[in-house]
Formats: sequence, C-alpha cells, structure tokens
Amino acid sequence: MSLERAEGGERETSAFLGPEVFEEKLAALLASKKKLDTSFYITRAKYDEFLRDTKAAEEKESGLTSLDGHRLDRFAVVKFPGQPEKLVDGTKRKKGQPPPPPQAKPIFFVAVDELHDVLRQAHNNIGHGGKHRMVAELKGKYKNATEEVILLYLSLCPTCITKRNPVRRGNTVCPMVFLQMNGRMQVDLVDMQ
Ligand SMILES: [Zn+2]
Repeated sequence: MSLERAEGGERETSAFLGPEVFEEKLAALLASKKKLDTSFYITRAKYDEFLRDTKAAEEKESGLTSLDGHRLDRFAVVKFPGQPEKLVDGTKRKKGQPPPPPQAKPIFFVAVDELHDVLRQAHNNIGHGGKHRMVAELKGKYKNATEEVILLYLSLCPTCITKRNPVRRGNTVCPMVFLQMNGRMQVDLVDMQ
C-alpha cells in the first residue's frame, strides 16, 4: 500500500524531479554496490522473505533452527489494524519472549521501494530541514534509512532546489524592489549610500 498523502499545497512545479528520478538514481546507487548490505538496503523480495521467516520463527513453540534464531535476533513482526504486517527492530526482544507490542514504539525497517515516501514525509514533517534534522527525524522511527539516501533525497527536492537557487528577476537593483514593498525602506537605503 502506498503511503501517498495529500501534499497540503506543496508545489511540485519541477515535475521532472518527481519520484521516478529518485527511484532511478537510487537504482543506480544500489547497482553500483558490490554487494547489497541488507542492514541498510532491503529489496521488496528480501523484505517479504525476512517477514515470512520471522513470523514463522515467532510462531514456533520449539525446535528453532539457527536461521530462526538469526531472524529473531534481528527482527520482529508487528500488525496494526487495517495495515499489512511490518518488519520492525527485534533487537530489544529478550530471548524466548514474544515480540514487543506495537505500543512499544517499534522501529521499522523500510524496504527500498518505500524509501521515497518515507523520506518525503520526514522531510515535509520538518519543513524541508536539512541532513541533520532528517537524520534526527528518522532515527527513532526507521532502522535503516541511511545518510546516503537522505542526501540523495535532499539533492532532488524541488522546493529545496528552488530555495538554494532563487529565481533572479533580470538585473533590477534591490532598491527598486523595496520601493514597491515598502517606501520607507527605500529612503533608508538611499540615506546609507
Ligand atoms: Zn525540501
């Protein structure tokens, strides 16, 4: 299911910097890696596999294999009403104990195909904040949102790009602009010159 939300008036005028550009660049980034480290990047296929394994291990009364143990050391499965099951950080689980309840603020694993929506939401939540605020925003919610993908997202956010490179209106000098907005400011500026 998509995490798509109403954009709340956000203007994405640069349609060419839409999600597909992020997906394209992300795919190139992942392809450039010798081996995809699943600590950071979990494809949909891997996500489903981990989820299946973890669930099966959680349901076993006894006879855990080493793979079961491995999965339980790392993951837990949570289910919120009306949503698909999700893979969350299971490292806080004590040996032989059930997975932590959902109200215990699970930290989610994010699959590669969810990254764009997760990053966009976090970025919008902090009013287009930069890298450090993004890291802080994501830290308590997602286990595997890397700085690498955060930077990739930030480099492609149309709003941030526009902010960095404001459109210049010809060669008009500043006092002319102030004149229209606030006559007094014009006088002050002239006085200083
Ligand atoms: Zn932005």
